[in-house]
Amino acid sequence: MIPKSHPRYESLLLRDKMVKAAQEGYLADSALIAHGRGEAFDYLIGEKTTYPAKRAMYVAVAALLLSNNPVISVNGNATALAIDEIIELANAIDAKIEINLFYRTDERVKLITQLYKNHGYKNILGTLDDDIEYINDIPNNRATASKSGIYSADTILIPLEDGDRAEILKKGGKNIITIDLNPLSRTSKMSDVSIMDNIVRAIPFMTKIAEDLKTQDKKVLIDMVNDFDNEENLKESLEQIRIKE
Ligand code: ATP
Repeated sequence: MIPKSHPRYESLLLRDKMVKAAQEGYLADSALIAHGRGEAFDYLIGEKTTYPAKRAMYVAVAALLLSNNPVISVNGNATALAIDEIIELANAIDAKIEINLFYRTDERVKLITQLYKNHGYKNILGTLDDDIEYINDIPNNRATASKSGIYSADTILIPLEDGDRAEILKKGGKNIITIDLNPLSRTSKMSDVSIMDNIVRAIPFMTKIAEDLKTQDKKVLIDMVNDFDNEENLKESLEQIRIKE
């Protein structure tokens, strides 16, 4: 048991979740390393949601609400850290959830499918019996997508995504939104909206934003999306990283 008074309490709880997920067998071998990279950036922003991240989240939710076929792409890490919160967000914005694994194996897909079902979400896409297509006909595991999900989606939320996969989605003409603690990653630079925040803070915050934005005029949402400059916001995000005491 980690004592609540421990200065890294929240962070250690997340580590526990990741270790448990690794033991359950649905994480890729490199998943803990990717988590560690995220932790380091989170440390440097004080493990708090910054102003540029909040701004990006408002724009992201507006874009998702304006979409015809929004999809949340999930991998092992996102599932381990925020499965219930992801389901809540999907319900709030009427988005589909699709399993997308960089290192896709039948076993991991099966385990993650079952997890979403156990948590009350029945219509998960990207499963073993789903209709899988290749984006832009690229004959590569990284280009796979569910026909009724990412393949035909207009906007995709890709938390903790790998740069190669993000590039394929971008080239496939998708509007992409990422949640990535590293503002320098290829995924952050390539995305239309990059949220530099921990997924465990960002997703529930986006659900709250959705409740607010759903009551707004469509025109307000369109203006929010059009007025946003991701490059500028990423610069501001980078300025939030403090390496002095
Ligand atoms: P890229 O390929 O896009 O340049 P990368 O090689 O860093 O980036 P991966 O290691 O494949 O990408 O993906 C993990 C990314 O997710 C990292 O950038 C890491 O900062 C981020 N990350 C890890 N854990 C979290 C988390 N809990 N919340 C948000 N982002 C996270």
